[in-house]
Amino acid sequence: MSLQAFLARRVVTPEGIRPAAILVEGERIQAIVAPDQVPEGCSIHDFGEAAILPGLVDSHVHINDPGRTEWEGFETATQAAAAGGYTLLVDMPLNCLPATTTVAALAAKRAAARGRCRVDWAAWGGVVHDNQSDIEALAAAGVLGFKCFLINPGIDGFTMVTEQQLRAALPHVARTGLPLLVHAELPGPIDQATDTLANADWSCYSTYLQSRPDEAEQAAIRLMLSLCREYGFRLHIVHLSTSQALKELRTARDEGLPVSVETCPHYLHLSAETIAKGATLSKCAPPIRSRENCEKLWQGLKEGTIDLVVTDHSPCPPAMKRLAEGNFRTAWGGIAGLSVALPVMWTEASKRGFTLLDLARWMAAAPAQLAGCGTRKGRISAGYDADFVVFDPECEFAVTEDRLHYRHPVSPYLGETLRGVVKATYLRGSPVFADGEFPGEPGGREYAANAKHRSTL
Ligand SMILES: [Zn+2]
Repeated sequence: MSLQAFLARRVVTPEGIRPAAILVEGERIQAIVAPDQVPEGCSIHDFGEAAILPGLVDSHVHINDPGRTEWEGFETATQAAAAGGYTLLVDMPLNCLPATTTVAALAAKRAAARGRCRVDWAAWGGVVHDNQSDIEALAAAGVLGFKCFLINPGIDGFTMVTEQQLRAALPHVARTGLPLLVHAELPGPIDQATDTLANADWSCYSTYLQSRPDEAEQAAIRLMLSLCREYGFRLHIVHLSTSQALKELRTARDEGLPVSVETCPHYLHLSAETIAKGATLSKCAPPIRSRENCEKLWQGLKEGTIDLVVTDHSPCPPAMKRLAEGNFRTAWGGIAGLSVALPVMWTEASKRGFTLLDLARWMAAAPAQLAGCGTRKGRISAGYDADFVVFDPECEFAVTEDRLHYRHPVSPYLGETLRGVVKATYLRGSPVFADGEFPGEPGGREYAANAKHRSTL
């Protein structure tokens, strides 16, 4: 098999950033060597001053396929992913129809994905009010873990779980050894706050923010930590928005609980103070909070209480954002961010003294580890899949619709100038994005820890 060499001045490996050549044989990295040690006969791709990071891993994406493909779909989501430097997406179980809560639904998802993906993908299974008996079967069929909601997710086909229903599910989850990802907001504090806002102006972001208080997240996290202690499953808190929960999470870790935490680029870049009246493109749940809170989340990343950063790419048809009325009560909550997450993060991280090594940890290695793919994805190391993103960290660009590539080009980032440009993305040694184009046929396939579950395309 012919050997390829990928060279750059800044290759981001777990050991550090250095000039290097990544030698690739077939789909895997064979070795990382000094640039002057490239063997004869290699085909050489020299990216000069650019950086090469590991292909990013997004463990929190809503692809909506099958069933809600007018919102998004495998073709468009994986295209946006390739343009954003992502090489593996793990799909959330709730926006597709059927929701991924049974083995049959997982089979339907596999059929929908076949031959349509530009990057690799995998599935989370859902834990809902009545599928306790499906949990272990889903694990055996190849989901990488589970997701549940402690509050109504606001979408037909997927139910929240009460504490009692969760208790019925947790022994099954614990037996699989897979992580349980939890949307951690409890309805009590939200219902209470919303009751007081019946006559408030819902075109103001502050009204929406008041309706989803920090306490809703804190109480949910407290409940999950106590259940984690009791049942011994792997707990993962998705899209942490309140910094007020950081202290408890830190204490839980110090105690040795198997808990991990993620946040998203929008919580680290946008803040409540800058969301204009009626700007429902910035609505998501839990909500984007104050600027002060945002800085504390950065502190949480720095200290390692927050392990990873994922997009929570959650698109919808533009009409559902209710842009004409600008009503934060009725607009769909969700932000699509796959194609610009890396520059959004680099814009903010570089200002605060973080390096590309930090981004590679938060956006590739740690999400891969959460999804159980950490021995093959998320690092530039010998034996790993040859997934990379070629990134120009100094270049700036304006976010325009033609750079988004997902189904509906709506985004709160449109018009912003961001730092860092994705020049090319390689999936298992082959280019899947290069200078605005998507070369070749879709060659992404399902990642399954157990090869026997792996689909052929
Ligand atoms: Zn989500």
